[in-house]
Amino acid sequence: MSKNKILVTRSSMPPFEEYVNEIKEIWESHWLTNMGPKHNQLKEKLKDYLGVDNISLFTNGHNALELCLQAMNLNGEVITTPFTFASTTHAIVRNGLTPVFCDIDPKDYTIDADKIESLVTDKTSAIVPVHIYGNICNIEKIEQIAYKYGLKVIYDAAHAFGIKYKGKGIGNYGDASIFSFHATKVFNTIEGGAVCYRDEEVGRTLYQLHDFGIKDAETVNGIGTNAKMNEFCAAMGICNLRYIDAEIAKRKKVYECYMDNLSGIDGLRVNVIQSDTVPNYSYFPVVIDEKIFGATRNEVMDNLMRNDIYSRKYFYPLTNAFDSYHGRFNPLQTPIALHISKRVLTLPMYADLDIAEVKRISQIIRSSANK
Ligand SMILES: *Cc1c(COP(=O)(O)O)cnc(C)c1O
Repeated sequence: MSKNKILVTRSSMPPFEEYVNEIKEIWESHWLTNMGPKHNQLKEKLKDYLGVDNISLFTNGHNALELCLQAMNLNGEVITTPFTFASTTHAIVRNGLTPVFCDIDPKDYTIDADKIESLVTDKTSAIVPVHIYGNICNIEKIEQIAYKYGLKVIYDAAHAFGIKYKGKGIGNYGDASIFSFHATKVFNTIEGGAVCYRDEEVGRTLYQLHDFGIKDAETVNGIGTNAKMNEFCAAMGICNLRYIDAEIAKRKKVYECYMDNLSGIDGLRVNVIQSDTVPNYSYFPVVIDEKIFGATRNEVMDNLMRNDIYSRKYFYPLTNAFDSYHGRFNPLQTPIALHISKRVLTLPMYADLDIAEVKRISQIIRSSANK
């Protein structure tokens, strides 16, 4: 048995010397932040890797999303999913907008596009869907509804770095998509994020908003914040981007090993790769139906913990059940999301996870059944 703890994720890092070499120029230039050469270099490399025309970089994914919503000049209601990380809902609320929660599809956990239209009112201004676990939303149906009612679509693509859908980079869909480059994500800049956008006017607004709303030396015409990616984070991104394909290939091996060992177990649902997508293997969620499997999600989690393996209840609780929103939203209105959130467990998944450990984790899960 391994002596080491296995956490749900482990950050990808380049060789130390490579990073040191990358930041040498920063010592020569003394340019630490404010859209310096590393920032601009990373931006160009990301455009190329993601296959997008327009991208802006930020301190983190949350600020990217919050500022993107601000740049879109939205008002009233925004249709979104409660089955996500806190950031998605908070970004909507912090913009003074009202989230309207739509239930999710039980097969891929993304917003159920067939239920969106019934939630549209004359106050609706946008849809904020999430490509949760890297599972792609029903893009065609969402765009059809958005077109019909004149709504903006901003995808939270924090989990979807590098994914292609129907041959195109995922950042090309909707009015904008936001990515997170947090340490725990498939691609990291330590902390960081980006917005890919369609309209260049949005890009100009985003640029100002992430730098206090400053237009030029004597004009401040936006109420912005400080969300500029610094040179050290950009340098980390430049290094990590050199290894991203190899990292995703290693994740694929982990995914395949989990699938070999956990598919076809009654009461345990694995995450299936969707058609028409080139995936990134960002997460490995399982949904445990305790009546059929014979153990609850929490029992499986505890069993793993006893073996020093730390899985996570992503995403529990639903954001519409957060204490911060007590009395404002009702999770019973999204019953499928509520059902899944009580049964989902996200297993350890990262590029350097040893295949022998994946087999051991799977074995512990299998032996949890029907006890
Ligand atoms: C990680 C994450 C974010 C926020 O990204 P940060 O870079 O951590 O600010 C937003 N949405 C989802 C779904 C995420 O998982």
